[in-house]
Amino acid sequence: MKYNSKIALCFAISAFVASTVRAQTPQQQLFKLNQVKLLPSPFLSAEQTDMNYMSKLDPDRLLAPFLREAGLKPKAESYGNWENTGLDGHTAGHYLTAIAQVYAATGDVKWKQRLDYMVSELKRCQDNRTDGYVGGIPGGPEMWAQLKKGDFSLFRRRWVPWYNLHKLYAGLRDAYLIGGNEQAKVVLIKLTDWADQEVAGLSEQQMQKMLDTEHGGMNEVCADVAAITGDKKYLALAKKFTHQAILQPLERDEDKLNGLHANTQIPKVIGFERIAELDHDQQYDNAAQFFWQTVVNNRSISIGGNSVREHFNPANNFSTMIESEQGPETCNSYNMLKLTKLLFTVHPKASYIDYYERTLYNHILSSERPGADGGFVYFTPIRPRHYRVYSQPDEGFWCCVGTGMENHGKYGELIYSHQGSNLYVNLFIASVLNWKEQGITLTQKNNFPFEEKTELQIKLSRPQTFKLNIRKPEWVKDGQFVVTVNSKPVKTQADGSGYVAISRAWNNNDKINVALPMKDRLDYLPDHSAWVSILHGPIVLAAPTDTSKLTGLMADGSRFGHIASGPLEGLGTAPMLVDNGKNLSAMLKSAGGPLTYHLNGMIWQTQFQNLTLKPFFELHDARYMLYWPIAKPGQEAQRQKELVQADARVLSMSQRTVDQVTPGEQQPEADHFMEMANAQTGVLVDRHWRSTTGFFSYKMRITGATKNLEVTGRGDQKGEFDILIDGVKVGHAAFDGGEGDRFITRSFSIPDGLKTKSSIILKIVATSADGTGPVYDIRLLL
Ligand SMILES: [Zn+2]
Repeated sequence: MKYNSKIALCFAISAFVASTVRAQTPQQQLFKLNQVKLLPSPFLSAEQTDMNYMSKLDPDRLLAPFLREAGLKPKAESYGNWENTGLDGHTAGHYLTAIAQVYAATGDVKWKQRLDYMVSELKRCQDNRTDGYVGGIPGGPEMWAQLKKGDFSLFRRRWVPWYNLHKLYAGLRDAYLIGGNEQAKVVLIKLTDWADQEVAGLSEQQMQKMLDTEHGGMNEVCADVAAITGDKKYLALAKKFTHQAILQPLERDEDKLNGLHANTQIPKVIGFERIAELDHDQQYDNAAQFFWQTVVNNRSISIGGNSVREHFNPANNFSTMIESEQGPETCNSYNMLKLTKLLFTVHPKASYIDYYERTLYNHILSSERPGADGGFVYFTPIRPRHYRVYSQPDEGFWCCVGTGMENHGKYGELIYSHQGSNLYVNLFIASVLNWKEQGITLTQKNNFPFEEKTELQIKLSRPQTFKLNIRKPEWVKDGQFVVTVNSKPVKTQADGSGYVAISRAWNNNDKINVALPMKDRLDYLPDHSAWVSILHGPIVLAAPTDTSKLTGLMADGSRFGHIASGPLEGLGTAPMLVDNGKNLSAMLKSAGGPLTYHLNGMIWQTQFQNLTLKPFFELHDARYMLYWPIAKPGQEAQRQKELVQADARVLSMSQRTVDQVTPGEQQPEADHFMEMANAQTGVLVDRHWRSTTGFFSYKMRITGATKNLEVTGRGDQKGEFDILIDGVKVGHAAFDGGEGDRFITRSFSIPDGLKTKSSIILKIVATSADGTGPVYDIRLLL
């Protein structure tokens, strides 16, 4: 990765002006959202659905935590769910970004008024204090005062405080940069000065200890403030927010991501790349590029998403993703697209856009429920015949609602870009680009992906010469990518970056037509196990199977509403594909509608022969097949037997489990309101654990029918602890380290008197000086 000479010159200048940030001009410049207008397509519909959803939210309710923490009287009651159980205020930050975007994209002043109002209220909160702080975190001022002195006790008991505050930083940044609100810039800089003071007295060691807790893209926003102000002190602050445990292995091209909470890491890497861009730091840039490559190539599935129960599964074993009802999280893809966009501007290559496009259609677009009510998806399970659930405006305030509101208001961000006066067409989304400075209006008309072609029409205020670059996608059929200008074919040899360049003197009304015939292919899981997803060009095709028992389809405000908790269907009885060696395209038979197909003779079981494939982004309110087990002819029955065996424990546990926590896994612990003292976490054989020499506890669901409690430890690890339910001892578990290298589960019966409530506090208390030893699983069972 070599920077060009222009950047080297820029670097030389910046060495002389040490206190000033001088960003290099990126290789690709992006257009603003107000320069790109979407034309009718699934993306325009998604934007409208998003705006409809957002218009149902009350700014005063979103602002309530900020007023409360600033010592002002809230004008309305806080929302519930994550908004009043510890992550108070996180949604408002996302909302600022989201409404700034739709204002820019549509020009509707309603959003600008809402944006201005919210920023003015946040300013009022900030002005009511003397230190520049504004935030919704419960008891924030007290906690920050303690943390400033290096005391982490309250910080550890709050739900990811910097992560929460990062949303506000990003919202204020976008209110200023995208929404044109000058006041937001003032509040943002003051809040960044507050952060600078907050961590000024912390040692490097204390910083790193603090950065062990999820902190969003704090490094990114500090770098952005450096770019906004030109003041290098904010870049130093951005570097101070660098989590070395993540950066260092990436700098060495080492993937140490197994078991890590995925969405905690991706924003850090966006920050690395942003710092690299502003500070000309090749090490940070290398780290970000390596991270992108390993996540995209080794850890992402066909829809572009990653993670199981929010964590990176082992790159060589995707079995837990197949089993789990908690597949890829939407926030991860939201952040991967941010990283992709940033990398593309620095290293313009079509391969970045190939990933961006795949994820945009199949994960992002698919994560919003179409129609009047809308709603956002948190987890997209790939477990055969499972389903997704959707948020409702007044009920669900998950992270993926926050990023969800942002996702569907910025579809214009990367359709086009430019390098000086040379124009790039990156995506085939129907839209109009209004490039006033150059006197160019480019209209892209199509019915893509339902029709495999696009048309570009150029309107010019004066004839001019420039290079028009059109992305040649990786999924286009070999030799069939055809480009014509005013009906005359032009050369379509792509350059090294994957674009076809047309350089000529352009005239008003010139018309470019691009044929985009799509390849069909089976996409195996990255671990090469015998599971496939079906792709037509960039579009993932999936099959709805049925609509039975879609428990919690429209999620309520309960703690677990974001998880599709309906019964699991057995893997052994899932539709299976037969790998008969024939060309997939020959097996796809049109089912009548656009992009709908039957799999002609490719499904093993006769009762599933009539399943209909359709774009996954159009599949809602149903159980589905997104990944299919596949077997060679004659081996189907054997494969089925293996699936039944592998799945037996998962199914049985799922049917019997009342509630379960994996100690050491971030979100499940937060969902169960974990409390602890002197505890630590780790991962062994891809399983998370928590141990303590004090205690840890969870709030867990229980029913009158609950019979047993199970805790899992390790045969080769020592530990001893009491188990208490609502303060009553129900068991004592001991592991002496002499039972071999395997996981061992101890079972305890629960006295009837402790099952009368709907939830209990389950507490693990160390009873020996060595502590509890690692605990891997805690489960209440029927
Ligand atoms: Zn999320």
